[in-house]
Amino acid sequence: MFDMEGPMIELAADFHVHPDYSIDAKGSLDEYCEMALTKRLLELCFTTHYDADPKYAADDAFMVINGNKEKLSDETLTHYFENIRRVHEEYGMLGLMIRGGLEFGWYEGCEAEVTRIKNKFPVEFSIGGVHSVDGLCLCEESSKKLFKNMPLEKLADKYFAKLEKCAASGVFDCLAHIDVYRKYGLEFYGDDILTIHRGRIEKLFDTMIVHNVGYEVNTSAIRHGHPEYYPTMEIVNLAREKGVLLRSLGSDAHCPEQLGLDFEVASSIIYDLFPYVDE
Ligand SMILES: [Zn+2]
Ligand SMILES: [Zn+2]
Repeated sequence: MFDMEGPMIELAADFHVHPDYSIDAKGSLDEYCEMALTKRLLELCFTTHYDADPKYAADDAFMVINGNKEKLSDETLTHYFENIRRVHEEYGMLGLMIRGGLEFGWYEGCEAEVTRIKNKFPVEFSIGGVHSVDGLCLCEESSKKLFKNMPLEKLADKYFAKLEKCAASGVFDCLAHIDVYRKYGLEFYGDDILTIHRGRIEKLFDTMIVHNVGYEVNTSAIRHGHPEYYPTMEIVNLAREKGVLLRSLGSDAHCPEQLGLDFEVASSIIYDLFPYVDE
């Protein structure tokens, strides 16, 4: 079962993982769990997408059940959480802790729905993510349209305003990939994007502290060709200075091979997560 050639990662827990319930991901829960054993992760939290914005429901509000794309509903969520309970029991016996969470796409007024879901289902970890600005996704194709008509300062103002509302909603444990605008923005706007958070992120941090919302170190930036994780070390250090909670480490894996990406290196910068290590 164990691959002795696998990387040695101590205390590693991957808390941002998209199984094939997400329309843009591959790999069943079992395939992810097998990979977690191979990579010697101790813990894995599934966080499939929950995109319920009524404005974009026709494009986003789906889950994949047994290979079929189905409209997002309490039935699809029941399937997801029951399947997680099964692997939790099966793989728990092998020493792997499996948890169930969701990555909620934030939208204005989502609090009631997020709260309803958290009350009805065993959501152990809730990530809030801002994935679009002005209705345009920060993904490869639509971000080109977005960037073309928007100066960087304006983009940053709008993005951070949304993220601040996401934090202020008080319904999330953690904000996803807080400088993800870099993903395709770096190529378009150049190096100025690396410092555009200055003077903007401080207010977000204050809101995060008030509402006890943490942030994650998300290593997926590495597979997007960036030298630094989301967020950059400058932002991690600012967060530390301010006392913002680092909540989790995640690969944002969309297939099992991406699980625990670069965690050997990332482990060294997320020491806040291991307060029991006596230094
Ligand atoms: Zn996300
Ligand atoms: Zn994600």
